[in-house]
Amino acid sequence: MRPHSTTVQATTEPTTALVRVLSLMDNASRAIGRPDARLLAVSKTRDAQAIARLADAGQHTFGENYVQEALPKIAALRELGLEWHLIGHLQSNKADAAARAFDWVQTVDRIKLVTALARHRPEPLPPLNVLIQVNIDDETSKSGCHPHDITTLADAIASQPRLRLRGLMAIPAPDPDMRRRRTAFRAMADLFKTLQHDHPGIDTLSMGMSEDFIEAIEEGATMVRVGSLLFGPRPPKSESHA
Ligand SMILES: *Cc1c(COP(=O)(O)O)cnc(C)c1O
Repeated sequence: MRPHSTTVQATTEPTTALVRVLSLMDNASRAIGRPDARLLAVSKTRDAQAIARLADAGQHTFGENYVQEALPKIAALRELGLEWHLIGHLQSNKADAAARAFDWVQTVDRIKLVTALARHRPEPLPPLNVLIQVNIDDETSKSGCHPHDITTLADAIASQPRLRLRGLMAIPAPDPDMRRRRTAFRAMADLFKTLQHDHPGIDTLSMGMSEDFIEAIEEGATMVRVGSLLFGPRPPKSESHA
């Protein structure tokens, strides 16, 4: 395993952490001769003030896991013009709120969600950017579609004028063996390439978190989702978000 988790210490100084993460991302992209991957700053459990500080440092793309938690932050920071991605499991009864508040939904994994998001995306807003979440290796997770279902979902999304298919997302099992994580990343990169044949407009493969974003980029990620390395360790999970 690479020593990046020791070279990037989560710090209370978000600007420093941001610069370090971006520089490691840049090195990884350069090493494989690919354009820079995008950084999604994962701001679940962080308050609007912490997000504003990172925005001040130049970060404009943020990811949230829970619609209810995100809505007040999105409202409070509206004038900063940030781009908001939903990266947590989305229940169909929250599709309405998600389609209005977010710019991207990365966790579309069933047809019911496709139709609900399309129906609720308000007309004055541009089409909602959508990623299909794929369950690549985590049998314990109930989120993400089976790889065999990608084509059907992609065609359904592409047929909706209020949605824009941008690519694929995955949360591989947090295997301590980094080789197995790489195997999952590589499998996702293959699925992404296959999907690009039928949907040449897609441009986003979202995978990799604080522990493995460098490996993810090396295997083909175009967007990584980093939380604790930017904001510091998260407080233990509370039941209130369930
Ligand atoms: C929390 C979360 C992340 C970020 O995790 P860190 O380990 O804090 O970087 C990324 N993606 C998803 C889907 C998450 O829920």
